[in-house]
Amino acid sequence: MSRFKTLLHAGCACLMAGFTGAWAQPAPSINAGGVVNAASSAPGAAVAPGSIVSVYGDFLLTGSFGAQSVPLPDNLGGLSLAFGAAAAPLFYAGSGQVNLQIPWELSGSPAPLTATLAGQNSSAEPVSLATYAPGIFTLNGQGTGAGAILNSSYQLITPANPAAAGYTTILVYCTGLGPVNNRPATGAAASVDTLSTTTTNPTVTIGNVPAQVLWSGLAPGSVGEYQVNVFVPANTPTGDAQPLVLSIGGAQSNAVLIPVQPPTADQRADQLVTQMTPDQKIQLVYGAGGPVTNQIALPRGGAGWVPGIPALGIPDLYLADGSVGVGNSVGQATALPSSLASAASWDVNEAFKYGTVIGAELRNYGMNVNLGGNINLIGREPRDGRTFETKGEDPILAGKITAAHINAIQAQHVIGGIKHYALNDQESGRTTADVQIDERGMRESDLLAFEIGVKDSNVQSVMCAYNLVNDVYNCENAHLLNDILKGDWQFPGFVMSDWWATHSTVNGALNGLDQEQPDNQYFGTLAQAVAGGLVPQSRLDDMVHRILRAMYAAGLFDYPGAISPVDTAGDEAIAQEAEEQGAVLLKNAAGQLPLNATSIKSIALIGSHADIGVLSGGGSAQVTPTGGPALTEGYPSVPGWAQVVWDPSSPLQAIQALAPNASVQFDPGTNPTTAAALAAASQVAIVFVSQWTSEGMDMPSLNFTDLIHSTPIDQDALVAAVAAANPQTIVVMENASAQVMPWLANASAVLEAWFPGQRGGPAIANILFGAVNPSGKLPITFPASVNQLPRPAIAQPPDGSTPFPVSYFEGFNVGYKWYDSQGLTPLFNFGFGLSYTGFSFTNAALVNNLSGSNPNFQVTFDLANTGPVAGAEVAQVYLGFPASTGEPPRRLVGWQKVPLASGGSQQVTIEVDANDSSHPLSYWDVNANAWLNAPGTYTVYLGNSSNGANLITVGSFQIGS
Ligand code: BGC
Repeated sequence: MSRFKTLLHAGCACLMAGFTGAWAQPAPSINAGGVVNAASSAPGAAVAPGSIVSVYGDFLLTGSFGAQSVPLPDNLGGLSLAFGAAAAPLFYAGSGQVNLQIPWELSGSPAPLTATLAGQNSSAEPVSLATYAPGIFTLNGQGTGAGAILNSSYQLITPANPAAAGYTTILVYCTGLGPVNNRPATGAAASVDTLSTTTTNPTVTIGNVPAQVLWSGLAPGSVGEYQVNVFVPANTPTGDAQPLVLSIGGAQSNAVLIPVQPPTADQRADQLVTQMTPDQKIQLVYGAGGPVTNQIALPRGGAGWVPGIPALGIPDLYLADGSVGVGNSVGQATALPSSLASAASWDVNEAFKYGTVIGAELRNYGMNVNLGGNINLIGREPRDGRTFETKGEDPILAGKITAAHINAIQAQHVIGGIKHYALNDQESGRTTADVQIDERGMRESDLLAFEIGVKDSNVQSVMCAYNLVNDVYNCENAHLLNDILKGDWQFPGFVMSDWWATHSTVNGALNGLDQEQPDNQYFGTLAQAVAGGLVPQSRLDDMVHRILRAMYAAGLFDYPGAISPVDTAGDEAIAQEAEEQGAVLLKNAAGQLPLNATSIKSIALIGSHADIGVLSGGGSAQVTPTGGPALTEGYPSVPGWAQVVWDPSSPLQAIQALAPNASVQFDPGTNPTTAAALAAASQVAIVFVSQWTSEGMDMPSLNFTDLIHSTPIDQDALVAAVAAANPQTIVVMENASAQVMPWLANASAVLEAWFPGQRGGPAIANILFGAVNPSGKLPITFPASVNQLPRPAIAQPPDGSTPFPVSYFEGFNVGYKWYDSQGLTPLFNFGFGLSYTGFSFTNAALVNNLSGSNPNFQVTFDLANTGPVAGAEVAQVYLGFPASTGEPPRRLVGWQKVPLASGGSQQVTIEVDANDSSHPLSYWDVNANAWLNAPGTYTVYLGNSSNGANLITVGSFQIGS
């Protein structure tokens, strides 16, 4: 028929001029079996009164016509269709297809359908009618494949926006569900105000699971279309193509496919919040107190506790410190080396193992919130007593290492934390220090470390710090909490206060604090503030939502912990590996190290209790090591509340084990004269120097200072005396941070062991004897003297309560950026560390992919191990920005730790992605309030420390004109 029509029209065009005979107007026609349910598209199947059908045929129309309003017309373009006397309302008419509504009044065996155009009738097409002929609309319009199904916010369910099992209500649009109560006239839209309902309820299955039908009726505002609201059952199988089938009155629809996923943490939290009473909500936004305020012993020995709500299945939150292992009074746990040592590995895989120990052991003890993740950029103030908890001075290194720790902790179904937000870089007057810094300065330094940590780890909690930033306390700082953390970075989890760092109820809640810890001094009156309209109910709901979503996201609901024994052997092995990868060899004159176990006959071991243990850092990060401390030494007068703990693992025993033929004699180092005498009588001397530090204090200087003993040991004098007595003097340092070394020129080797953790003894011995080749690199610059620091003296508080300004005039020039921008030569550069082998960098080249869809640049080079033993080098890429930006001379933008056998070489590619969370190619533009690329020339450097003199200039690239 259509072929005939085409021919006829063509003939008409060419014959028009000379044709004079009679021309018979053809009649419209309907295809045999051409009346089809518009949704299921099942040919020949019955249709139902009131529903929408497509009629296929040859309607002889030129162009197409659509109904513009309801009630629908029964004539479009001169074409009408009717079942006997019952005219069908038309949606659409074109030459090959008409869409119409089957008149409601039809029943039984209706008159056949006829189409009429210009007084000519088609032949009559019989139509088989059924009360029910369900058909669900599909996206392809063919009745197959994905369904045109919406969620209750009218968003289409697609793989990018899947339905959530047990959460989503979906709106199924279909035809043919039969009679309704409140039936509109034929061709009229269903009422929006008075909803119709189908007289029979359909049933629906999704993934073959029966789903609850919440409502079924005519789609409000539509003609002939039905809507069925269905709740996706919790036990629906998940996947991208779950079949949804609707049945009614014994008739079944076509199966459409919808993507179903498990509900997200946010969806589950939303759902739970709607079930909570006001009291239950308030209960979650503060700690239940502790020994100080509420005189309760915190359960499980943690630092905080938020009781759960058993009626709703909400578990208790058990909060515990854990920056270098499980802290507080939780129990004996693996004492890891300093977090700074983990950063010194420059290895995110190694850092992940480190975090796994913390997460797994917290879980062993039934703790489910970690107060770790100290990422304060202490390089600003290396004397900060908490430096050992941090990840150094570079925002990118610190951010990536912290993210690895947190990813590992959260993989153990423990809520990870990042702290102390923000700019909490000194302990002196930490609750009243008022940091003064410009927006760009903080965005590109301390805040960048947090930004990377938050974005790369999906961390679920952030602890706001004690101090003030630009005159506002951190825990009520709307700019830091609302604008930046929750706004710019889209942090979805909850902000908890540091312990007693909350300063207000209404300000705290409105400005972004979600949970007061450890008690309820301020949020105890939050309910009244909400009732009085000072804090919107929606904000309280948001606080609760954030806490619950964190619990869901970390798996606290789905993987409730069972208290279980610590894997002591496995975890201690990781502690040893972390130290072996993080210790930094700073000096090795004339190949003093490694020591030769076979030729060495006598060793003088001096100082720092090296006969029994290794030093650890104090404060809330203190770990009670497995097996108990090797020694505790009371509470030093500064700061007064933390105890000195020497972790087990005796360096002496480990050294003796590796050098069984040597005589290893120990001298406590309290008297330089006796120590020097022993050194003089020995082949080599190994002096252990130590600097105890703790939360709550700053180091009095960068010299090794004995804070432990009432008669302090002068360790600088000790090393000087020993080195004078024996030219083969090796210094092993157990300390938190950067130090100065007045005796450096006289020591033949220096190993920075940090606080080495409870397997420090064997780790140090392995390095000294070459069983392990050191590969750690400094994550913090060692200044030549305090006078090189931006603030040679630490700002001190006037009293215990008055805020006092601390000017961060250096802005983003933290650590090596400060030294480079000031032209200062430090004692040891950021990124520096020696090896027992040598490495060469050759054939360095730059590949510029910045105009690609995934903008990046790559540095490729050949790295060769040119020395006698296997080892690992950390290749570092630094970027110089156009001078117009005012950026420091170089910024670290990428690195890779590469292990190589002796004589081995490898082509290495380090890729720097412009869109990485570290913003490697951008500066913070205060006017645009955004990270921008400045036009100009960028220079790429490669090397093994930040020391500009030793860097290879790989090449440069241009951005903009
Ligand atoms: C510290 C936090 C610690 C909290 C709980 C505070 O004094 O600053 O780092 O998580 O105590 O122990």
